Amino acid sequence: MIGFISNWERGSLMKRLIAGKKLKHQCIYCNKEIIKGDVYYRHREVFEEDEMIFAWQYVVCPKCKYKEELHRKRFEKFTKKCIHPQKFIVTKYRYIPGESVKEPDSDICTLCGKIMI
Ligand SMILES: [Zn+2]
Ligand SMILES: [Zn+2]
Repeated sequence: MIGFISNWERGSLMKRLIAGKKLKHQCIYCNKEIIKGDVYYRHREVFEEDEMIFAWQYVVCPKCKYKEELHRKRFEKFTKKCIHPQKFIVTKYRYIPGESVKEPDSDICTLCGKIMI
């Protein structure tokens, strides 16, 4: 779910929660239904684009969170070794203040997310 919000913190946030009575959640990875009393993790991402702030959140069960962490650790290892191949580099543009033209802002490696100037 993506919605416009104005006052949330930017970035991503993982929160450990215990399922209550009314809420019905499903793990986005394995579709496991999280029932009352289950521990689950709510992941919230907030990002900004074209001066609008977007946010979405999803729910992960503890089993999948564990897998996700392993994945992230592997990814972090990978990003340290990434050689930023040219074909994966994209240039990000930004508007010049007061004008309607864009200028190149920075180059980003889409493999590891590193910003290169
Ligand atoms: Zn799961
Ligand atoms: Zn890279």
